[in-house]
Amino acid sequence: DEVLLRARDVVRTFRAPRGGRVQALRGVSLSVRRGEVLGVVGESGCGKSTLARLLVGLDAPDAGQVTFDDGDVSALQGAERRGFHRNVQMVFQDPYGSLNPRLTVGDTLAEALRVHQLVPREAIPARVEELLAAVNLPPEAAKRRPHEFSGGQRQRIGIARALAVNPRVIVADEPVSALDVSVQAGVVNLFAELREKLGLTLVFITHDLRLVRHLTERVAVMYLGKIVEEGVTGQVFDHPRHPYTRALLSAVPRLVPGAKRREAPVSGEVPSPLNPPTGCAFHTRCPKAQFPICSAEVPENVFRDGDWPVACHFPD
Ligand code: SF4
Ligand code: MG
Repeated sequence: DEVLLRARDVVRTFRAPRGGRVQALRGVSLSVRRGEVLGVVGESGCGKSTLARLLVGLDAPDAGQVTFDDGDVSALQGAERRGFHRNVQMVFQDPYGSLNPRLTVGDTLAEALRVHQLVPREAIPARVEELLAAVNLPPEAAKRRPHEFSGGQRQRIGIARALAVNPRVIVADEPVSALDVSVQAGVVNLFAELREKLGLTLVFITHDLRLVRHLTERVAVMYLGKIVEEGVTGQVFDHPRHPYTRALLSAVPRLVPGAKRREAPVSGEVPSPLNPPTGCAFHTRCPKAQFPICSAEVPENVFRDGDWPVACHFPD
C-alpha cells in the first residue's frame, strides 16, 4: 500500500471554556503516502494542529480512525504502540517549549536514544554527534543548554531529537512560523535535505502558502475542520478548484510568476468553530455561493475525470 498514515473521517471536539463544544475536526479524511511531502494549509483555527496531534497519536479522535501501515493507532498496545511512537515523530512550532531547559542538548538526544534502545550505550556519544551534524550544528552544541541557542538553532535541535529515533514520518506543525524570517529558509531547506537523504515521509503544516509551494508535492487545504481541496501542489496552485483555495492564493499574487491578483482575497473573519455555518461552512464568505443549496447541503467531495477531490457544489 502506498498509504503509510491515514485519517479516516476523524471527528474531534473540545469543551469550550465558556460552554459549548469547539468542533475542531468535522470529518477529515487524509492519506499520507510513503515518501511524500504533504502540506496541510489553512488559516489559524481551522484544525491543523488538532489534526497533527491525532496523526502522531498525541490525541485520539472522538469518531473515525487514524491508521499507520493499515493498523488502527488507537488499538495499538505495548511494543507495537512504542513502535508507532518511534516511527511517527512530531516537530513543534515552539522548540523551546518542547525541550527540557535543564538538560544539555547532548543529554536530550541521548535520552531519546536510550528510551528506544536504538544504539548500544557506548555508541551514544558518536550518534549524538552524527545527529547534530545532520542538522548542521557543531559537536560542541551537545554540551550546551537550549537557552544558549537562537530560535533557528533550537528548531534544528528539535529536528535532531525527532530524527534520533529513526522515524519514518515527521509531522511538523508550523515549524518555522515562530522564527525570524531570515532563518526560516535555512530550516525549511533542512527539512527538504533530510527528507531527500533519509527517505522520510513529511507532513508539513503551515499557514504559509509560499512554503507549501516550495517544499511540498501534494497539498490539503483545510477550512473550519474540514479538508476542502486536496491535490498535487503545482496543479492546485495553478488551477485552484475550490473558491476558498482561490481566495487564499489570491492573497499571495506573486506565488505564480507573472500572475496578477485575480480576485479579492478572502474577506471577513473565520466563523467560530463553536458554531460553524450550516451546509458548506464557507458559504458566509464565498463569492460563488448560491442559495439555498450552499447553506443547506454539505458538499461531498467531487471527483471528476483527471481532477482532484474538492468539496464544493460549484467547483471550477
Ligand atoms: Fe462556495 Fe457553495 Fe462551493 Fe461552498 S459549496 S465553496 S459556498 S460555491
Ligand atoms: Mg496551529
